[in-house]
Amino acid sequence: MDPYPKPLRELILQLKCLPGIGEKTATRLALYILGEKGDLAENLAASLKAVKQAIKLCPICFNITDRPICIICQDTSRDRSTICVVEDPSDVLAIESTRVYRGLYHVLHGLISPINGIAPEDTRIPELINRVKDTEIKEVIIATSPSVEGEATAHYIYRALTDRAHVGKVSRIASGIPMGAELKYMDQATLASALRYRQGVNE
Ligand SMILES: [Zn+2]
Repeated sequence: MDPYPKPLRELILQLKCLPGIGEKTATRLALYILGEKGDLAENLAASLKAVKQAIKLCPICFNITDRPICIICQDTSRDRSTICVVEDPSDVLAIESTRVYRGLYHVLHGLISPINGIAPEDTRIPELINRVKDTEIKEVIIATSPSVEGEATAHYIYRALTDRAHVGKVSRIASGIPMGAELKYMDQATLASALRYRQGVNE
C-alpha cells in the first residue's frame, strides 16, 4: 500500500522526471509544495504553463525567445557578419556574460553522436549551413564543448561549411588549457585539441 495519496504520488513522479532530482528530493519538494501556506503551488503551476506557451525558438538563430525574433538577432549594433555556433541556449548566456563577443549566434540544440543515434539532421546544423549560404557571413566560430561529441560536431560543421557554404573563415574556440596550467600535466585529449585548434598569435 502506497503511504501517499494518489495526487501527491503523481506530483512526486512528475518532479522525478527533472534532471538531478531523485526519489528523496522529489518527495521533499512535493511535501514542501503541499505544506507551503502561500501561493507557491498556484504560481508554480502558472509559470510552468506560461514558460511553455510564451517561449519559442528564434527562427534565425534558434535561441529561446518570447518575441518573434530574439533580441540578439534584432540588435542592429551587433556584428552581423559573425556567427558563434553553440550547443544550447545556456551556452549563449555563458558567452554573453563574458561580454567579449558582439556577433550573432546559432544554437544547435544537440551534438552529433553516432553512439546515441544523433545525426546532423537531428540538430540545427542544416539550418546553419543554409543560413551561412544565404547571408553574407565573414566568420563562423564553432564553440561546442571539447568533448567527443563536441569535436565530432565541430569537424562536421567545418567540413560542411568549407565544402558548401563559401564562408570566409571557420574557427574553433581554443579549448582547455587553463591559465597558468603546465602543459605536461594536461590530459592528452585537451592538449591534442588545443594543438589542433591553435590560432594565430596576433588574432
Ligand atoms: Zn535569434
